[in-house]
Amino acid sequence: MRGVALTFDGLAIRGASRAGDQSWYRVDPPGLALDVGRGAEPLVGTPWIFLSHGHLDHALGIPWVLSQRRLQGLAAATVFCPRPIVADLERFISVAGRLDDADLDAEVVGLEPGESRELGKDLRLEAFALHHTVPSMGCHLIRTQRGLKDELAGATTEEVAALKRAGAEVVSERESIWLTYCGDTGPKVFSSEPRLFGAKILLIECTFIDHSTRRHGARFGHLHLNDFVEHAAHFANDAIVLTHLSRRYRQHEFEHEVASRLPALEGKFHFIGDGET
Ligand SMILES: [Zn+2]
Repeated sequence: MRGVALTFDGLAIRGASRAGDQSWYRVDPPGLALDVGRGAEPLVGTPWIFLSHGHLDHALGIPWVLSQRRLQGLAAATVFCPRPIVADLERFISVAGRLDDADLDAEVVGLEPGESRELGKDLRLEAFALHHTVPSMGCHLIRTQRGLKDELAGATTEEVAALKRAGAEVVSERESIWLTYCGDTGPKVFSSEPRLFGAKILLIECTFIDHSTRRHGARFGHLHLNDFVEHAAHFANDAIVLTHLSRRYRQHEFEHEVASRLPALEGKFHFIGDGET
């Protein structure tokens, strides 16, 4: 499956998602997989994989992706994951490699919330805690942008050149969250990681939508549409991509419910489902 493709503010996201079935996304730049579902062809070329947790609808595809990379002669991928699952993930990769009669090369890097790693030039990934039934983490993709210092906004080219010649620093660096990814999580994430409200793009699960499942979210460590309604005033994102819908709903029902219950955020919502309507 090649997935749904979206582009915002220079960032391309491709993916497919249904709760319990598969969830995977590819983000360019920098070529980063956010979970791998049961394995998907667009993920094979990404040198970095962020695995939010070990549930198989998010993680089963790891050996397949690594095996495809090997067949294509690509370098070993780096797999970031919650530190508590490193040993199991390494065993999983090693046993799968034995079955496949291949050395599935990967560098597995366990992260704690708050830790970050560089992903090429001017981009880094920072992990944060999620609240699920197993160890689970989200991540921010943070970019550094350079521009003239604020106080030089009205200066002419000649003035800036003169300052540079005099040895003054005229450029400043700004970090901002380009994308936040929340894999499976309960609603506590809205208080534990409020920076997600300021990300340019928010890629986040919303598993349940109807009244009969109101308590399911907190119980199973997932989000309910009501959680979004409760926090509607805080979303300052340019785009909110909702994913991981329960198989009990049709995708078009979901999109209709979101539009009717969150009218103030109209135009911000996008969806990555599994291609079914
Ligand atoms: Zn899960």
